[in-house]
Amino acid sequence: VISRREGDHIVLPGLATAHSHAFQRALRGRTQRARSSSFWTWRGLMYELAAKVDPDDVYDLSRFAFAELAGKGVTAVGEFHYVHHAPGGGPYADRTELSQAVVRAARDVGLRVTLLRVLYERAGFGRSLERGQERFVDPDLEHGLADIEALRARYANDPRVVVGVAPHSVRAVSADWIERASSFARERALPFHMHVSEQRREVRECLAEHGRRPVELLADRGALDPRLVAVHATHLLPHEARLLGASRSFACICRTTERDLGDGSPDATTLVEMGARLCTGADSHASSDPFEEVRAIELDERSRTGSRCAIDGTRLLEAASGEGYAAIGMEGLEREDRVVLDRRSPALAGAAERELDDAVVFGADARSIDEVWVGGARIVERGVHVAYDEVRGRFEAALARLGL
Ligand SMILES: [Zn+2]
Repeated sequence: VISRREGDHIVLPGLATAHSHAFQRALRGRTQRARSSSFWTWRGLMYELAAKVDPDDVYDLSRFAFAELAGKGVTAVGEFHYVHHAPGGGPYADRTELSQAVVRAARDVGLRVTLLRVLYERAGFGRSLERGQERFVDPDLEHGLADIEALRARYANDPRVVVGVAPHSVRAVSADWIERASSFARERALPFHMHVSEQRREVRECLAEHGRRPVELLADRGALDPRLVAVHATHLLPHEARLLGASRSFACICRTTERDLGDGSPDATTLVEMGARLCTGADSHASSDPFEEVRAIELDERSRTGSRCAIDGTRLLEAASGEGYAAIGMEGLEREDRVVLDRRSPALAGAAERELDDAVVFGADARSIDEVWVGGARIVERGVHVAYDEVRGRFEAALARLGL
């Protein structure tokens, strides 16, 4: 049991969202109509935003996204950060300026953050770059890895910041990049994250280019190990789930975004049975509620299979807490953070003492949050981030600047 009762409170360890693109918070409520009726047309709208944000925009949008997450109980975030360069694709004078803006945004609202520096090589096998993508791309792998080293050096003395390696996907990097980036991460014991099998088209293109499905390709290139976080892991065959499980890799399930984008549903039952570790991510920030994110794994599995209780509440809460922290290279630090729920709140009133984890996972919502503590600092009081009004003001000003 992970939840603990203290009088009128229920106390949880820290909760992590292991996969986030914070600036995409600007798109909530703006990409739900027919002009973005597929993942790919939604992506076009996201690229329009990515093409025009400047460092202040990235900071203001991200800081709000992180403050919202904190107010809903999140204490640590893995930010999968892929907008690196100035509009047009030329590097900033300080090449890691945008990564630093994101880290500063998280730290300024009091969250722990793992900056997962994305490596992006190409639009896809044989495809030319689309508008927006030029800001993601490095001319060679060495530039990307050098930026990761620069970020590691910059944050070496901040125990609340971790830097990880994130080849974007089998679409956006070649097998050669995957293999070299994986060795680089392993030699330095860094988290290694990658979008894996989010879309059927990605699987088809991987088969066409490599004659391998995405997880098979990762296995071929030696990228499967306990630091791999396969984000989404939606369209896997059972033997791919077995490969992830055998290497004790993570599957990072992002149900609220996957639902929003029409990605499909992962076979979570098989992933767990095969030994894959589970964590969750707010991903596009379509929703920022860590309880919704984690219960959706089980509830969507019930819809998919027509049966119940594949993954129990304690296991789900572990995915949101200790497993999420481990996935972003912060193993054990969840015990230094606290999420304090009000047992008198409507969603938790009358919670059964013996099944407290279930009461939390299947019942809690943002209104249940009382306080959030990260490493001894209280960042949320009575359910609201301590700097909420100022952060929201800057967020709305950024949206206005961007014409949103
Ligand atoms: Zn993502």
